[in-house]
Amino acid sequence: MAAAPTHEDVDQFERIFGEPNIPDLVAMSPDAFERFVAYVFFAAGFAVEVVANQKYPNGPGVDINLSAQGSDKPIFRVEVKRYAPDNLVQLKEIKEFYGALALGQGKLPGYFITTSDFTDAARSAAADYGGKVRLINGQKLIRYITYLRGSRIHDAKGFRHTASMTPPDWLWPESGLYHRDPQHTRVIAIANHKGGVAKTTTALNLGAALAQQGHRVLLIDLDGQANLSSALPLPDLSPKPAKNAPVPSRTRFISEWFSGQTTALQDLIQPTRLSPNLWLVPASRELHRMDRGGAADPGYELSFVQAVHDPTLKPPMSAETQSASTAFRYIILDTPPAQSMFTRLALAASHSVLMPINVEVFAGLGINGIVETASTMRALVSEDVRLLGCVRTRYRSNAQVKKEEPSLKTELAARAIPLLETVIPLDDKIEQAHMSTVNGGIKALFSFNTSAAGAAYLRLLEEIQ
Ligand code: ADP
Ligand code: MG
Repeated sequence: MAAAPTHEDVDQFERIFGEPNIPDLVAMSPDAFERFVAYVFFAAGFAVEVVANQKYPNGPGVDINLSAQGSDKPIFRVEVKRYAPDNLVQLKEIKEFYGALALGQGKLPGYFITTSDFTDAARSAAADYGGKVRLINGQKLIRYITYLRGSRIHDAKGFRHTASMTPPDWLWPESGLYHRDPQHTRVIAIANHKGGVAKTTTALNLGAALAQQGHRVLLIDLDGQANLSSALPLPDLSPKPAKNAPVPSRTRFISEWFSGQTTALQDLIQPTRLSPNLWLVPASRELHRMDRGGAADPGYELSFVQAVHDPTLKPPMSAETQSASTAFRYIILDTPPAQSMFTRLALAASHSVLMPINVEVFAGLGINGIVETASTMRALVSEDVRLLGCVRTRYRSNAQVKKEEPSLKTELAARAIPLLETVIPLDDKIEQAHMSTVNGGIKALFSFNTSAAGAAYLRLLEEIQ
């Protein structure tokens, strides 16, 4: 019978979830490690049953059975080897496991899990078994734990696990995830779970500054409030429309990708009035209804990463030259406030993340969530999602700031989160620029020379290059 984990086990195992590492796993007793792996699969939404003491022919001859919640019919078997790092799993052990899978009721697929790794012979044998024997070495196990840790919900009994079964199969390198070289196209997410901290303003200003410097930039609006999109109207029509003609509005939005109407972000890339170097994938309010929340869905999350990193994603052909233009140098993703699927996706797809903060209002609070989400998503894509750091926005020096700033600095330092030197001052011109773009029809959005905040954004760009 599948059983819920005991409370002692939960306490002990959650400590390991907090900071998963190989030495701690190897230091466990074989028995505790078996129960720990069972707990990992429990956290992944499976019903688990430790059957290690049921040797063949009285039992399946494996360590753990996995079934769907509410069912006792195994769908996967698991073999567990707590080995020191230099003690590799041998071909013979893989063959034995395959043999055990073949016994009993039908041939179920199985996971072979070790804290160490597999010999080449063991790997090629597993490959020959056509997906029946799936190998998870120590590093993949750590990634699995890290991803699960940040993707769970509390159930009615207070246990934490993913809302639906989340097998570790996406950890396979064969999934062939292509990741852009940041030297070629750099993908940056602007994120903070708090609203009103100038995420959108930062995405817009960095994009505008980069475009002005001659780089090709794609902004992707992942916030259903669509503030970024309304700040970036379509280019003027030529010939010029009548004076009172309505501003042309956009008709295609990123929600098409989430609803499956299109599988290519390329179809949704549109020009902007601000600069011929600046393109936009706009959002609409519709996006709110497509948020699946913070639940684990690795396959879906990876498909978004793949869409952003699709090598054919390019600035659309220019009307003048009719030639395919070269790649984007920057892709900047604006994200919604609060925990949202879109923030998870943006962090998964980015090389780095910039976190705007407002020192006056509990700046530390929104950051925890982003750091946690960044590490969850780093485990998913197996790439480093670098924390560029926090940038102070809407900044003015007053008593409140002087009071909050030292503790903010201590808090960030304790978590090794850089606090960027550049501060973006509070600047009325930002608000004015915002108003005029929302009403359409503005030519030069920001004057990086005459606006204090604009000039600060240029310095910020240098700091994060
Ligand atoms: P978020 O995207 O984090 O919700 P926004 O970029 O929309 O935040 O900014 C919130 C509000 O603050 C907007 O009205 C914006 O115009 C204003 N704002 C942003 N940066 C500044 C600044 N440096 N000075 C003055 N107002 C600013
Ligand atoms: Mg915003």
